[in-house]
Amino acid sequence: MAELARDRGIVLRTQDHAETDRIAVLLTPRGRLDVLAKGARRLERSAGAVLDPLHVVDVIHYRRRGLHLLKEASFVRTFPAVRGDLDRATAALKALRWVVDLVPTGAADDRLYALTLEFLDALDGGLPPAVFTVAYTLRLLSAAGLGPHLTGCVRCAGTDGLTWSPERGGLLCARCGGRGDPVSARLGGALEALARLPLPALARLRIPDEDLANGAALLHQFHAAHLGR
Ligand SMILES: [Zn+2]
Repeated sequence: MAELARDRGIVLRTQDHAETDRIAVLLTPRGRLDVLAKGARRLERSAGAVLDPLHVVDVIHYRRRGLHLLKEASFVRTFPAVRGDLDRATAALKALRWVVDLVPTGAADDRLYALTLEFLDALDGGLPPAVFTVAYTLRLLSAAGLGPHLTGCVRCAGTDGLTWSPERGGLLCARCGGRGDPVSARLGGALEALARLPLPALARLRIPDEDLANGAALLHQFHAAHLGR
């Protein structure tokens, strides 16, 4: 009998596999864990979908030929206000896709797990989805060692004529060759605050919708430059 392991994790994504199986991608304190649930799609009708995105679950699994096979999954909790609201759910699921892209399997990182739980709880508790998206994504990138440079030009530290240059790591001024979208001082300041402030202060922060939308667009470019999509 293979050795059993137990992990608690947040379900980031599920995908169908073979005819009746499903793979669930989990974020756990020990890193990303992909478990293969044999027959999950056949069982689902009776057993309910424990392995649904945005569920926190306990799994018991074992290794066979390089795969983690699921033996048992039990539901722990979810984020009801997120799952019950289209805007919040969309923001959360989009952010969790970034986690899938950024976190390699087996790279233990309990900070990333704690950060993700903390932000999903905040979103569940009323943090506006647009604030969640930018603030969480910035911190996720930092945790993955890809945090964009947000204080002045990445090359000369100047603060005039700043533009967004994802391939150079963040803000780059026009004099240093920055050719991307211009980033106003106000937007730069907002991004810095979103990257840094503790959650209670974030919830009180008043950032214009326009800056939040522009910030999300800049991060989207960053994602495309660094993760190729
Ligand atoms: Zn410069």
